[in-house]
Amino acid sequence: MSGREDISSPRRTKEIIAAHGFSFKKSLGQNFLIDHNILNKIVDAAELDTDTGALEIGPGIGALTERLAQTAGAVTAVEIDQRLIPILQEVLSPYPNVRIRHADVLGVDLHELFSEDFAAVGKVSVVANLPYYVTTPILMKLLEEKLPLANIVVMIQKEVAERMAASPGGKDYGSLSIAVQYYSEPELVCTVPHTVFIPQPNVESAVIRLKVRERPPVDVKDEQHFFEVVKASFTQRRKTISNNLKARFFPGEGRERLEALLIEAGIQPSRRGETLSLAEYARLSDVLLAAGIS
Ligand code: SAM
Repeated sequence: MSGREDISSPRRTKEIIAAHGFSFKKSLGQNFLIDHNILNKIVDAAELDTDTGALEIGPGIGALTERLAQTAGAVTAVEIDQRLIPILQEVLSPYPNVRIRHADVLGVDLHELFSEDFAAVGKVSVVANLPYYVTTPILMKLLEEKLPLANIVVMIQKEVAERMAASPGGKDYGSLSIAVQYYSEPELVCTVPHTVFIPQPNVESAVIRLKVRERPPVDVKDEQHFFEVVKASFTQRRKTISNNLKARFFPGEGRERLEALLIEAGIQPSRRGETLSLAEYARLSDVLLAAGIS
């Protein structure tokens, strides 16, 4: 009987879509997973068990939600598209440990959601096949809000995954790599072919795991200032760090004071932003702050 097949099986997915007259909205990044193996890889990477919670962002018609419900103790799925809510309620009705919330995740008070939905479980992981148009704001919200998270395992655009995991010196390394690595340890789990989705996306995909750090790998006096310095250093990638910082922090001044401060932080002014490690940015931010530059 087809009803017993996984939601993710191509046949059941097509059946659910047809039965509800559902049409995909490209603007909401709706590409649904129809591959059991990929779903298993995502769920395995999150290391869930019945004592853990899972927060899913964008459940679609519930392919991943179903696998999470079979593995985690409590599952909350936040979906923006009202048309999917009755479908999710119906197809996930066999799983009492699932809660569906209709909301834009960017507007949700996640601390409140955690205390309401995950009070009975130990650790919580975010597990999702994210809508690509809004990947970075969602991940930065999850990281910046310092939620009690163990892991974030997400399918995202391959190019964005590579930028998040990049090391200093390469073309992929930038302010996104630094922000993500400040809060977590990223690890590429696998790349994913177009064929596992309906409809198929135009970009390549990858699964990335962000192991959330208990504390950042570097100490900074002022986090906001640290990220300002990082952002300013990448304003124009081809320019030196000295040129980029001058435009942001020392407009209308000579460059002697800036270059002296860079040297004090152990950084040659002729270097480019993409060559500096997190530790070097931390030192630079603290030296600038101590000199009253903010
Ligand atoms: N998890 C399903 C799967 O793997 O088959 C669907 C993934 S699909 C790539 C992304 C889902 O996120 C869609 O269901 C879309 O409606 C939803 N979505 C898009 N923007 C959202 C937002 N801001 N908040 C919550 N859900 C969102």
